[in-house]
Amino acid sequence: MSLFAFLTARYGGGFASREQINRHQDRAFAHFRKRIMPRSPFYRDFADTPLDQLPRMTKTLLMENFSAINTCGIDRDRAFEIALQSERSRDFNPLIGDVAVGLSTGTSGQRGLFLASERERRLWGATMLGRYWPELWRRQRVAFFMRADNALYRSMSNRMVRFEFFDLLGDFDSHVIRLEALDPSVLIAPARILSLLAQLQEKGRLSLAPRRVISVAETLSGDDKAGIHRAFGRPVDQVYQATEGVLAMTCPAGNLHLNERLMRIDEDVIDSASGAFCPIIHDFTRESLPILNYRLDDVLIPDPRPCSCGCTSRRIARIEGREDDMLWWPGVLGRVLIPAEAIRTAIACLPCRIRDYRVIQRGDDLEFWLDGAKDGAETLLAERIADLGRRLNCCPPRLVFRRGLPALSDEKRRRIIVLTQPVQCAAE
Ligand SMILES: [Zn+2]
Repeated sequence: MSLFAFLTARYGGGFASREQINRHQDRAFAHFRKRIMPRSPFYRDFADTPLDQLPRMTKTLLMENFSAINTCGIDRDRAFEIALQSERSRDFNPLIGDVAVGLSTGTSGQRGLFLASERERRLWGATMLGRYWPELWRRQRVAFFMRADNALYRSMSNRMVRFEFFDLLGDFDSHVIRLEALDPSVLIAPARILSLLAQLQEKGRLSLAPRRVISVAETLSGDDKAGIHRAFGRPVDQVYQATEGVLAMTCPAGNLHLNERLMRIDEDVIDSASGAFCPIIHDFTRESLPILNYRLDDVLIPDPRPCSCGCTSRRIARIEGREDDMLWWPGVLGRVLIPAEAIRTAIACLPCRIRDYRVIQRGDDLEFWLDGAKDGAETLLAERIADLGRRLNCCPPRLVFRRGLPALSDEKRRRIIVLTQPVQCAAE
């Protein structure tokens, strides 16, 4: 299975047609219904139910029913205890039998548990390595920045790959020293860490020569993408991965495709103008903790154009961000979705360099916090925002300008934050 996944990810070239995708998924689900669902007390009686009629799953519901949903007979409280203990001691080997237990971050303060069996870990490794391994004949050194290590990723260390983990909660300066010593051939990190490393590289404080640079776990903005490319001389690949699975990956042509080889992804469209949708996933490779009819609160923007790589898996223009952080402004025919990139561009195009910024929607007010702004920046920005409103046929909120950065604790350092939507948009 994992060798097959490796070869498919590396040489498969993707699906030639939509029919082929449907056939592949139908076959996989037939197996899943027969072999996996009966082992889950929660799903046992749903083996014949169409996917979109299964109970709509969310993180909360998944956690509430964790003990009944998983197919390994693992009790939720025990799994939590083991995962928490291993995180506290930062001694990461949380296994129950051969099943790895992990905790997800949970931006809303809610933490999720996830499981990965040995087979699932191998499949994950094979898919990732198959797609992104630079040269098969060379031993690779992989640097992976993430919040907490766990057995899922460690399983990849072997003769072919030296795999080093960098704890996102650890001391960054000592990471830099260790990174320099490792001289990774593959660099995997969330977008903001890649950006920081790119800045160090440009200042000459780092001299890495990775063959692959992969952004995970966060939205990668256009300017970050360009900066990272410039610093390392490599285009940035993206893996859109949530606790719930690997949802999308960049192809050899550099475009993001939904991972229709491993899951069926339905679209809950939240904005018909752009086609923006929240994915509802049905993963037929997750056997330990089935993920079915599960709605994520990330917003994806589809790209209907065919890709030059030849794969017909649906393309994604970008991952716009969390549903809660979408900016909605009142328009003539209802609320209008404002692309975060348009706001970022308006700020990036100011003639004076802004060190950093935050944009906070607070009801009918839109606060701009500009760190390092010079006089005149506010007036220019106000003009740009008015332009944007005209272009998108909507009415921008009242603008409030401030200097410096707000005191907000935000682990993910989001730059655009929605606290409350404008009154007119909140009701929709
Ligand atoms: Zn492609």
